[in-house]
Amino acid sequence: MDCPVCKRASFQQQDLDHNLVGRRCMRCEGVWISATEYWKWVKTRDAAEQALFDAAEVSLPVENVGQAKICPECGHLLRRYKVWPNVKFYLDRCSSCQGVWFDRDEWEYLKAQGAHEHIHEFFGSLWQEDIREQEARQCLEDLYLTRFGAEDYARIKEIRAWLWEHPQQGALLAYLSDKDPYRM
Ligand SMILES: [Zn+2]
Ligand SMILES: [Zn+2]
Repeated sequence: MDCPVCKRASFQQQDLDHNLVGRRCMRCEGVWISATEYWKWVKTRDAAEQALFDAAEVSLPVENVGQAKICPECGHLLRRYKVWPNVKFYLDRCSSCQGVWFDRDEWEYLKAQGAHEHIHEFFGSLWQEDIREQEARQCLEDLYLTRFGAEDYARIKEIRAWLWEHPQQGALLAYLSDKDPYRM
């Protein structure tokens, strides 16, 4: 079994958690977890114990290895998944055998955040769509900010919020967009 980063057999079995055996590369310190081991472990966890994971606060101590990676179990190319919107944290998963690769410190980081029991959720279409949507929103936010400038943008946002909650919204909008609202 070759490490997807170092491209050589440098794995050693390691206990990553109670009842979870993974393989650690002794060179780059990345971790491989097979789908079988992962699911076996997740199913032993008491669902009530699983804290809901809030991805809002993320500061990253880790660096991603950006190169293309090959699955150590079945030889397919690993697919890169973003884990949170607007954060450069990626996991690599094999679409064929569904094993997951963690670059150095990534497993430890997820574990410290309590996210390690939710890893399968990151690869689901709901999670991935949510990331895309949030990133698209952020992109527009940046665009408006650049276009309007901070001060005007804050002002128009405030007006917008007020307008869209107002019961006379339609009339106010008509008044606003009319060049001369005093002309009969
Ligand atoms: Zn390695
Ligand atoms: Zn595979």
